[in-house]
Amino acid sequence: MSVLLELAGLTRRYAGLVAVDSVDLAVAPGTIHAIIGPNGAGKTTLFNLISGLVTPSEGQISFLGHSITAAPTFRRAALGMGRTFQNIRIFGGMTVLENVLTGLAPSFKGGIGAVVAGLPALRRAERAAIARALDVLDLVGLRAQSDAPAASLPYGDQRRLEIARALASSPRLVLLDEPAAGMNPAETAALALLVRKIRGSGTTVLLVEHDMSFVMDLSDRVTVLNFGRRIFEGSPAEVRREPRVIEAYLGPKVAARLAVVAQ
Ligand code: ATP
Repeated sequence: MSVLLELAGLTRRYAGLVAVDSVDLAVAPGTIHAIIGPNGAGKTTLFNLISGLVTPSEGQISFLGHSITAAPTFRRAALGMGRTFQNIRIFGGMTVLENVLTGLAPSFKGGIGAVVAGLPALRRAERAAIARALDVLDLVGLRAQSDAPAASLPYGDQRRLEIARALASSPRLVLLDEPAAGMNPAETAALALLVRKIRGSGTTVLLVEHDMSFVMDLSDRVTVLNFGRRIFEGSPAEVRREPRVIEAYLGPKVAARLAVVAQ
């Protein structure tokens, strides 16, 4: 499959404002694909459309060849889509391991009676879930902290925990919403390694991020939004030298002055 996620003419209007305007996007499997753009460009709205938290005014979304335009969030998750949020959403009073377990779809189908009786099959399913959660904690480098209360982790580790939860059910695609926000340089460097590991483990990564050096060092492909529209897409090197992108970030006056200085 050459396209994992495809958006066609995706649009979301709010009264008097087009937050996402006819966006086409194709995310190839096995890639790290970034969405960038100035504040208010429509990045979060686009993520919410993809994960099903916001319904499109127009356009189509397909994932793994299925149309998911009208599918509820849980169906997208069941098909293999995970996501994290801009603001950390973890259960501080639960342990690190328990937080990851909340991201695992229940796979035991024995019914409530079997759950109450604690049948061996249920215990096996629980052991499998814990083993999977520990594997994911290994991947993000938090296995040693699995019994610690989530609230006791430093900020960067809390963000990694959120990523672990999003990866628990082995998604084909994970959406990371500003994963480097609030991180110090060491945490950001460790995060870049982790995102590469996620791609290496077979999960495609779509991320929204403001930290430009993080995006440019890491991404295979970058899509640039401005005022809800896709204004450019290319490799990081192509994005860096594209005048429309420079203008979107700096405004036409500064961009023109920079162009003069560069000549
Ligand atoms: P930032 O980088 O600041 O997070 P963004 O690129 O994620 O911005 P969005 O949050 O998607 O941008 O917002 C795009 C535009 O849509 C903004 O003008 C915003 O005010 C508007 N918008 C987003 N959600 C709503 C809503 N629920 N109701 C009305 N307007 C909205």
